[in-house]
Amino acid sequence: MTGTLFSQINPPQRLLMGPGPSNTYPRVLRAMAADMLGQFDPEMTSYMNETMALYRDVFMTKNQWTLLINGTARAAIEAALVSLCEPGNKILIINNGRFGLLLSEISERIGAEIVTLDYPWGEVASLEEIEQAIIKHEPHIFACVHGDTSTTTAQPLDGVGEMCRKYNVYSYVDATATLGAMPVATDQWGIDIISAGLQKSMGGPPGCGLITISDRAADFIFSRAHVELGLQDGTQTQSQRSRIKSNYFDLAMIMNYWSEKRLNHHTEATSMLYAAREAACILLEEGLANCFERHRLATTAISEGARAMGLTLFGHDATRMYNVTGIYIPNHIDGEQIRAEMRNRFEIEIGSAFGPLKGKIWRIGTMGHNARPHKVFHTLMAFETVLRRAGLDITPGKAIDAAFAVYEGK
Ligand SMILES: *Cc1c(COP(=O)(O)O)cnc(C)c1O
Repeated sequence: MTGTLFSQINPPQRLLMGPGPSNTYPRVLRAMAADMLGQFDPEMTSYMNETMALYRDVFMTKNQWTLLINGTARAAIEAALVSLCEPGNKILIINNGRFGLLLSEISERIGAEIVTLDYPWGEVASLEEIEQAIIKHEPHIFACVHGDTSTTTAQPLDGVGEMCRKYNVYSYVDATATLGAMPVATDQWGIDIISAGLQKSMGGPPGCGLITISDRAADFIFSRAHVELGLQDGTQTQSQRSRIKSNYFDLAMIMNYWSEKRLNHHTEATSMLYAAREAACILLEEGLANCFERHRLATTAISEGARAMGLTLFGHDATRMYNVTGIYIPNHIDGEQIRAEMRNRFEIEIGSAFGPLKGKIWRIGTMGHNARPHKVFHTLMAFETVLRRAGLDITPGKAIDAAFAVYEGK
């Protein structure tokens, strides 16, 4: 016998209280174990249609084009930008965190002309500032991140999409980290394209992009479709616009695949479709408002627990996300050592940070299946213990009492 034999996969049962991925709902894991179907099987295509309908509710939209992108959340971001942005188009991007930088990085590769609205990490743009920048730069697209896990901060979006439409600008928002945790009000905001993923507050595994596209944006994207439709239906469209610079992420082709035309593109990732469908069912059965409140309470309990231990939170209360909390690492404490102790002694993962916040804050997530009182209590009890053992002067029980007070409404 050649090669190495490995034992069956048997990962430790960690509690993932970082900025994502989070633990997956057991129902989603079970759905993923279901049998494969052929991609044009009527049973499969009806699951695809059901998934579209479910995600319209999750994204709070009537957008027909609400579907999955096979790949991680980043795949959906790239699909949105490469399909909406022609080389040389101007794109205005809010630059206030790690994922705002990603929007610039992707746009640069597309050959867009990039203008950024720059803020320190943890700060947000006002509607007036965005409007002024749109008037000044006249971009083709406005793009930003809703909740950026790197800063634990959520950009307010009320009125933003509507305002963009007034100036004939397409709007794109990355809501990967907030979908399922706090309102992502696509139609109310009037945003053209919003994308997300499953592994944050949707409680699914990583590897699935979610996207919703307005008719207005879809019309523009279809106007960039060139000749490849000839493969199945014999039509040849000739467009004046430049062809979308990606085959895999060509949203015109992907929409045609999800339409009743079922024009062949990729093979839909069957097990991931089951996962996405199940995750949306769980969220909608609970009810959006109940799920958001469960997240808000969990994060408030973590925040109050941290404050009760004398720790300081990063960011502002008014713009805090509902599912991740930034906590400053106190002087003379080794942040990585604390994370290692949390993992090694308690099987709990908490997050470190990137860029200007690297080594300065921890990030504790309360996402999806993990946004529940007992997981919050476990995390705070462990965190308090580990910090005390590292030499912080904390009265035992303070953190947990503060968390109980949040849940008991005191
Ligand atoms: C996690 C995250 C992503 C990246 O998701 P992947 O699934 O790793 O591609 C993008 N944007 C935001 C805001 C995120 O929080």
